[in-house]
Amino acid sequence: MFDLSQRQERIIEIVRKQGPITGEKIAEILDVTRAALRPDLAILTMSGYLEAKPRVGYTYKSEGFHNAIRRILNQYRVRDVKSMPVVIPETSSIYDGIVTLFTEDAGTIYVVDKDNYLTGVVSRKDFLKTALGQTDLFKVPVSVIMTRMPNVITCTLDDKVVEAARKIVTHEIDSLPVVKVFVDDRGDEKLEVVGRITKTNIARLFLDLAYKNTKEV
Ligand code: ADP
Repeated sequence: MFDLSQRQERIIEIVRKQGPITGEKIAEILDVTRAALRPDLAILTMSGYLEAKPRVGYTYKSEGFHNAIRRILNQYRVRDVKSMPVVIPETSSIYDGIVTLFTEDAGTIYVVDKDNYLTGVVSRKDFLKTALGQTDLFKVPVSVIMTRMPNVITCTLDDKVVEAARKIVTHEIDSLPVVKVFVDDRGDEKLEVVGRITKTNIARLFLDLAYKNTKEV
């Protein structure tokens, strides 16, 4: 099973709703040439999503249950479900970090340098571990206890939610910073934090899908 491109997913959607439909008509709806569409149509026909009938056009082949779920879930991008990040400067004290955790009601805080670029993440357990020891919570900055770059697992706005979920599960973490990547003058990658995706965001999407178009919550 391979991933479909956004355009291929659009084509399936069009054929599902309007089929049988000709290639010309699909091209017209997508505002591309028939030739540009040919490879996509070939892939979709070969992989069994669409059926091409001469002089009739493309029809949608009803898919199995799991293919339908996969197709639906793969339509969601991080930008659709992300929430606001909670960010603190790396010079903040551990004490201030803990207060932020409570006031912002977040499980994980993202740490940034003076230029606002991501340098690390601090989670509940990082704070708890530190609080158990002899560290001076008022003096020691969060940068000392954070998980730092390049060990921070991130995602971008265009990533699929499914991919973000895979990273969260694989790395056994609660959230991922959503970042925009820049390359500075020296060729180094810099990450601007534009959101966060958490287990809660993913659970909410799960609920939305379960109750979409129904009157229940
Ligand atoms: P909790 O502390 O509530 O168990 P996590 O499971 O998310 O929260 O954190 C476990 C560890 O993983 C912590 O040490 C934390 O710094 C680290 N961590 C959390 N999120 C990330 C991330 N996106 N990338 C890398 N490490 C992370």
